[in-house]
Amino acid sequence: MNFASDNTAGVAPEIMAALTRANQGFALGYGNDDWTRRVEKKFSELFKRDVAVFLVPTGTAANALALAHVTPPWGAVLCHQDAHIAVDECGAPEFFGGGIKLVTLPGANGKLESAAIKPLLGNKSQWGPPHHVTPAALSISQASEAGTIYRPQEIRDLADAAHDHGLAVHMDGARFGNALVRMNVSADEATWRAGVDVLSFGATKGGAMGAEAVIFFDPKRAEHMSARRKRGAQLASKHRFIAAQMEAYLDDDLWLRLCRHANDLADRLSGGLSKVGFTPKWPVEANEVFVALPVALCDRLQAAGAVFYRWDADASGSVVARLVTSFATTAEEVDRFVELARVA
Ligand SMILES: *Cc1c(COP(=O)(O)O)cnc(C)c1O
Repeated sequence: MNFASDNTAGVAPEIMAALTRANQGFALGYGNDDWTRRVEKKFSELFKRDVAVFLVPTGTAANALALAHVTPPWGAVLCHQDAHIAVDECGAPEFFGGGIKLVTLPGANGKLESAAIKPLLGNKSQWGPPHHVTPAALSISQASEAGTIYRPQEIRDLADAAHDHGLAVHMDGARFGNALVRMNVSADEATWRAGVDVLSFGATKGGAMGAEAVIFFDPKRAEHMSARRKRGAQLASKHRFIAAQMEAYLDDDLWLRLCRHANDLADRLSGGLSKVGFTPKWPVEANEVFVALPVALCDRLQAAGAVFYRWDADASGSVVARLVTSFATTAEEVDRFVELARVA
């Protein structure tokens, strides 16, 4: 019953097998290898246009380098107040961006709202030199830190507001696959066709060992990015092992199958908990369930071996538990957890 995070799971067997295959013989370093070429081609096919791809080992590197690339040091990045880039990256976007400013905003269900962005960007007296930062990028997390997702029309509305004021649109897709399988749309419709300029495409939480990609939908925008990645110490020497993971993740839609499994079990968990009186705090749209549980129940669940984070204190005296499912979560674990909650 390990629901602490999707990174507590191991590596999907198909990806481990691809690593073992990539371990035969020799290949040039730093991305001058066949795996990397094939991954670049695969991403262009997936997104139905020529994209520029930069593989990196962590999602923080992907986000920080992507934002640094589209934001000058005197620029601002608008994001949700709970965004990973603002809360969980130890200042990496600010560091790699040479001091860029993150401007955080509230928003229901962990999501930014275009109705809040428009007046903020429209208030010109608040922005611009010599005294103020200049908004340069809008960053949204897909799925969001609350486990909710942005539908294409919501992305379109946000992107239009951003583009109207010259901002680039960044998507933190650490759980992009989980978001995508929830919607009946293609990867291109969920990104550049809705106005996304640069995507951090995550594979690690989906089932890889450590593989993330920065994807520029307009390759012209990627100029000097290879230098930025190296200067940022994020160019892997044995790059083929990141590429081999990503290739296996994308092959035969493995990523969509893995993410669908994680989502299905989050649904099973939220459905089961709702039935016994614990309704999730936010809509469960990806692979995360946030639910207020009495402290005593949390104690009992954890004593019985369940692993999860106590996310937040709740006004009612309960704690908000964050329960994350992964490709490796089983129905039995979910049912055992729900049964413990029911008995309590
Ligand atoms: C996990 C996660 C990341 C990437 O984190 P790393 O630990 O640096 O790989 C980025 N964004 C979100 C929303 C995440 O949950």
